[in-house]
Amino acid sequence: MDLALSKEQEAVRKLAEDFVAREVAPHVVAWDRAENVDRSIVGKLGELGFLGLTVPEEYGGSGGDHLSYCLVTEELGRGDSSVRGIVSVSLGLVAKTIASWGSEEQKRQWLPRLTSGEAIGCFGLTEPGTGSDAGNLATRAVRDGGDYVVNGTKMFITNGTWADVVLLFARTNDSPGHRGVSAFLVPADTPGLTRRTIHGKLGLRGQATAELVLEDVRIPASCLLGPEGKGFSIAMSALAKGRMSVAAGCVGIAQAALDAAVRYAGEREQFGKPIARHQLVQELLSDIAVDVDAARLLTWRVADLIDRGQDFATAASKAKLYASEAAVRCANNALQVFGGYGYIDEYPVGKLLRDARVMTLYEGTSQIQKLIIGRALTGVSAF
Ligand code: FAD
Repeated sequence: MDLALSKEQEAVRKLAEDFVAREVAPHVVAWDRAENVDRSIVGKLGELGFLGLTVPEEYGGSGGDHLSYCLVTEELGRGDSSVRGIVSVSLGLVAKTIASWGSEEQKRQWLPRLTSGEAIGCFGLTEPGTGSDAGNLATRAVRDGGDYVVNGTKMFITNGTWADVVLLFARTNDSPGHRGVSAFLVPADTPGLTRRTIHGKLGLRGQATAELVLEDVRIPASCLLGPEGKGFSIAMSALAKGRMSVAAGCVGIAQAALDAAVRYAGEREQFGKPIARHQLVQELLSDIAVDVDAARLLTWRVADLIDRGQDFATAASKAKLYASEAAVRCANNALQVFGGYGYIDEYPVGKLLRDARVMTLYEGTSQIQKLIIGRALTGVSAF
């Protein structure tokens, strides 16, 4: 694998870095305190093409490579994980899944709007009673003539309050486990679909996380995405690529923690010298730096495998597992470097730690990633 970035990759990374400095960084603390990222950020992300990276050009995307997608995701994650999550979900989980599984009509209906930022997507898999065990979901879609009628509740849905389209997973027959699950594209303004913003999150506070309630939601059969009964495979293939995006966002958090800690260690003086000159502070900084490099290399490895058309699912689980745990460690170590100042939100590291924490939980907890890796090693499922 060639680790040198091409001119185009460096240009897209710089574009994202400048975007964050201009449009995100000045607002991060206010958005976090208000529990609300300004929604106009979606259009701005779309204008620069960040919501269409890796989507084919004929549907409004830029058809770019996955390493470029990682670079942009890392820069956004370095700026604000709430903003990064908008892209990872609307592009990574929704638009990419439509591009892979959608009919021509579905692609034409949704992709140009999603890639431009005119519309936003959310991914509705988790329910109050099923998180890790997603294949046992209880939301039902019952066929009624040319329609399906959907009933159920979805929990913790990123972009849920803002979304124009819900990629929804529902049970279409009573087979146990994942076999009876199907995927649907449900316009969010369909009568019977209501949403409630979930407040009080530890991190990602700016993000529009919602509970979605579906009561007799009637959708035409043309909303079915991919074959009936294939929904669980569709969800798992979306999440495998999604894990690369989460990992890249975690690299961004870890890098932001390193940058902030090195800067602060050079400025803050104790015992008559900058704390950077105390060996135990250097240990904290070097631990962060090694984690950043290791997480980034594992993540780029996934992008390289995808771009070569090779199997990447286990590598994505390894990258997501390592990078998410590393992001928590790095932010925690950076907070230690900041001492008491790290504990207040005028300094960036407390938010990095709060945002990092959820990365070990969503898109498969760390335990679930270990079970995926263990299954690949042994051939035995221990779920
Ligand atoms: P549980 O599955 O109940 O797990 C609880 C604990 O048990 C965990 O430690 C877990 O690792 C452990 N555990 C469970 N099963 C096993 C096992 N077999 N072996 C060992 N340990 C096990 N979901 C979506 O569908 N779309 C979204 O956009 C989305 N966004 C989210 C945003 C946020 C901020 C949060 C917090 C969650 C989001 N989720 C989303 C949901 C997320 O994916 C789930 O929270 C996650 O899958 C874990 O499910 P759970 O919370 O029900 O925990």
